[in-house]
Amino acid sequence: MRTLENSVLSTMMRTPLTLSHLLERAGKIFPTSEIVTRMPDRSLHRYTYADFYRRSRALAEALQKAGMQPGDRVATLSWNTSAHLEAYFGIPVAGGVLHTLNLRLHPTDIAYIINHAEDRFLIVDDVLIKLYEAIKDHINVEKVIVVPLTGKPVPEGLTSYEDFLATATGDFSYPDLPEDTALGMCYTSGTTGKPKGVLYSHRSMILHSLGSALPDALNLGQSDVLTPVVPMFHVMAWGLPFTGIMVGCKIAMPGPHLDAVNLLDLYESEQVSKTAGVPTIWMGVLQALQKEPTRWTKLLPMEMVVGGAAAPEAMIRAYDTFNLKVVHAWGMTEMSPLGTVSRIKQNLAGSDPDILYALRACQGMPMPMVEVRAMNEHGEVPWDGHTMGELEVRGPWVAQSYFKQESERDKWSADGWFRTGDVVTISSEGYVKITDRTKDLIKSGGEWISSLDLENLLMGHPAVREAAVIAVTHPRWDERPLAAIVLKEGASVTTEELRAYLEPKVAKFWIPDAFVFVDEIPRTSTGKFLKMQLRDKFKDWNWE
Ligand code: ADP
Repeated sequence: MRTLENSVLSTMMRTPLTLSHLLERAGKIFPTSEIVTRMPDRSLHRYTYADFYRRSRALAEALQKAGMQPGDRVATLSWNTSAHLEAYFGIPVAGGVLHTLNLRLHPTDIAYIINHAEDRFLIVDDVLIKLYEAIKDHINVEKVIVVPLTGKPVPEGLTSYEDFLATATGDFSYPDLPEDTALGMCYTSGTTGKPKGVLYSHRSMILHSLGSALPDALNLGQSDVLTPVVPMFHVMAWGLPFTGIMVGCKIAMPGPHLDAVNLLDLYESEQVSKTAGVPTIWMGVLQALQKEPTRWTKLLPMEMVVGGAAAPEAMIRAYDTFNLKVVHAWGMTEMSPLGTVSRIKQNLAGSDPDILYALRACQGMPMPMVEVRAMNEHGEVPWDGHTMGELEVRGPWVAQSYFKQESERDKWSADGWFRTGDVVTISSEGYVKITDRTKDLIKSGGEWISSLDLENLLMGHPAVREAAVIAVTHPRWDERPLAAIVLKEGASVTTEELRAYLEPKVAKFWIPDAFVFVDEIPRTSTGKFLKMQLRDKFKDWNWE
């Protein structure tokens, strides 16, 4: 009898999953789709995919001519603009590695990251030239290319992006790249130690793009108008530039203008249907809408993806009143970044509205191809919606190591799962809910308290704009929760009122023993609460 192992069954073509396919598709199928950029002077720059296609290929050719070798890192220090989009495609299709630098980091950290990544070329927006000047003596890049967003002359000794593109003759041909070739690189923001580099491959990014466009993921199609507010230096703007170009939709880039009024103007003038950003941005836009309540009638009923930090349920509810739908997603630099998205499953659609809001406020269901499990000291925790464990993930767009950082090997389990550092519960329906990051856990008298749950509840109080809950050492209970509260403009509330508000909602021992009113919560460069700083500030709290 013939066994299966002995016969080779011919199946499908082994077409490599590489970015050149998306670029070719953009140029051939969607030449008239538009890309709009809010420029530094607030004017709107417009061009089409046909221009984008031509210029991305010109960049690819110019880089090759300038001596870029496969695997060379090309860094960008740029806002969300069409030129940055050209770098997103032009660098990788020529075999280079697109390394997006977080311009909000301290210059010392940016220089450290450039040196650690061994970047050979640097593309920088002219409006960020001061930042470049602050690091230039501490880095060693071969060529600096300046994008003239303002039209001012490029400083002596540096190359203008336009002159650089002009070195291309238009005869670029794609190198044959295996699909595992590195496409891009991002460093984690370093909230948990030294920044760590993650390398994405062409394959991982293509699969991530296909996955994230799905209706139950970020739901992107050709007829959408997409505005990534999340910076292109923060986990590749969550992959949206690749996904947007793949589906061929109009893209409206906010440039350096990320304030609520400029964003609302852009949403209105470009009739944006999909946008994405961190909770802080959406909190600001919400306030602006509340100040000018008729404004929303001029907007499309947009979907606003929120991620990077927990989206408070109260915010999701408030946007519903403006016919704007907040979609909560969770991810990490190490995951390209999409891990989960919270959409309501059909079998739950008829649930009580409060249950539906709770589901929308949790981090959501795993993406196709992303496996999840939560582990505690006894092994894998049951999917019962209340046992907590550290979330581990596995999948084709999850990193398998950090760049030149062998000391971090223990972030991966012996059986190949990535340890996220997030503490979660998983429900029987497959919804993941983050209760904390491992380093932010509060353990009181041997019991865990979820800081995220408390923050979410507190931010539902009408007087509270923001709340961060931290663990502070306690002589009797080891640790007790302390809540730092930012009040809404003109609002007031007492500690007793906040306590009484929480009482019917959580176990008694969860209620913070201390509430402190602060002007603002310190944040990381990517919009997360900087709890380390708060813990430091309140470490000697007197519990008497
Ligand atoms: P860093 O780890 O350097 O801060 P990342 O942007 O990769 O940078 O952050 C990933 C982390 O952000 C996650 O592990 C998680 O703790 C947090 N995070 C991301 N999205 C969410 C979300 N929707 N809800 C709660 N936390 C989130």
